[in-house]
Amino acid sequence: MEEIKKTECQTERVQEDGTTFIVDKVKFDTLDEAIVECKKQNRMPEKTEKVVPYKCKVCYQYHIGRNGTLITEKYRNKLIKENREKKKEILEENFRNAEFKIVGKVDLSKFSPKVKIRKNGTKKYVYK
Ligand SMILES: [Zn+2]
Repeated sequence: MEEIKKTECQTERVQEDGTTFIVDKVKFDTLDEAIVECKKQNRMPEKTEKVVPYKCKVCYQYHIGRNGTLITEKYRNKLIKENREKKKEILEENFRNAEFKIVGKVDLSKFSPKVKIRKNGTKKYVYK
């Protein structure tokens, strides 16, 4: 069998029929971006092996790869919790920064309620 040569920036993938092919590894400009991707993959329920970021000696960018350790339930739950809290923070931040603009006007006189007087003399407003 012919040996497949791959560079540091490539990785082998196994197809369903058992044959392998070579693909370019995803490159990240910053460590932070690589960490975000690792956390995303490590919290996926179907993943068992942990992926970690590393700086490539060839392209000087960041790749992610398995380091041989397994994802523990505790670690995954921590990531899920962290992600949930982050999403909540983003939502709250977006809401705080929301800008409201006038998109139209409503003629309130067309929505004025009918006033009914109750038996005890109080007013009741009926909106239709
Ligand atoms: Zn590389």
